[in-house]
Amino acid sequence: MRAMVLTSGAGFDRSGEPLGMQDLPRPVPGDGELLLRVLVCGVCHTELDEIEGRTPPAKYPVIPGHEIVGRVAELGPDCRRHKIGQRLGVGWIHSSSGGADENINRAFVATGRDVDGGYAEYVVVPERYAYPIPEIFSDAEAAPLLCAGAVGFRSLQLANIADGQILGLTGFGGSGHLVLQMARYLYPDGKVFVFARSEKERAFALELGADWSGDTSDVPPEPPHASARAAGWSSMPSARNPRTAT
Ligand SMILES: [Zn+2]
Repeated sequence: MRAMVLTSGAGFDRSGEPLGMQDLPRPVPGDGELLLRVLVCGVCHTELDEIEGRTPPAKYPVIPGHEIVGRVAELGPDCRRHKIGQRLGVGWIHSSSGGADENINRAFVATGRDVDGGYAEYVVVPERYAYPIPEIFSDAEAAPLLCAGAVGFRSLQLANIADGQILGLTGFGGSGHLVLQMARYLYPDGKVFVFARSEKERAFALELGADWSGDTSDVPPEPPHASARAAGWSSMPSARNPRTAT
């Protein structure tokens, strides 16, 4: 299978080309694992963090990519949750403890960092961390929801606002622009104020329905009832990647 492989950390030297195409053997699913034929894999800022050394893979080579939409091509032994041909999504959590703290548990293994991810024609994933994708979404629409969307949705839930209140969003990247659309849908009578350093992001926020946008030091017309900041990857160490400890 063809795959884009990260062969080394480039550090902050952007002159190298750490990601290159390779032809690799198709992986074989083990107990409780599926082989997915990748339809789409989103690009997340965390991949830049991997390449530039902020959350480096524990070992190279590794295939990045953790916003994966694919179809089940093969079932490993003891797989019961999904069927051949089913469309599934896979996010940043490749496997973990299964508890409420699984994104910070030491058992946490990251897709596309600690194990091979979705920048490839096929990927092997545990069946319990692969999720059916509702028909309403196209492959490309579903992919970013598996990381940026999930992170943003969690932030929105923690903000705990009610319809009619004002939500403040700090930062307006891959996650923030999805949270704004969720907030517009879930809280149609509320207002959303976006704080972003980039003028382009502030304009994009207004285009997507923000009621106000300003620089991070600007004072909004009214104080928000709650603010959400959709942040990316966890910096906690994991069983396979103790180097991510900060
Ligand atoms: Zn991500």
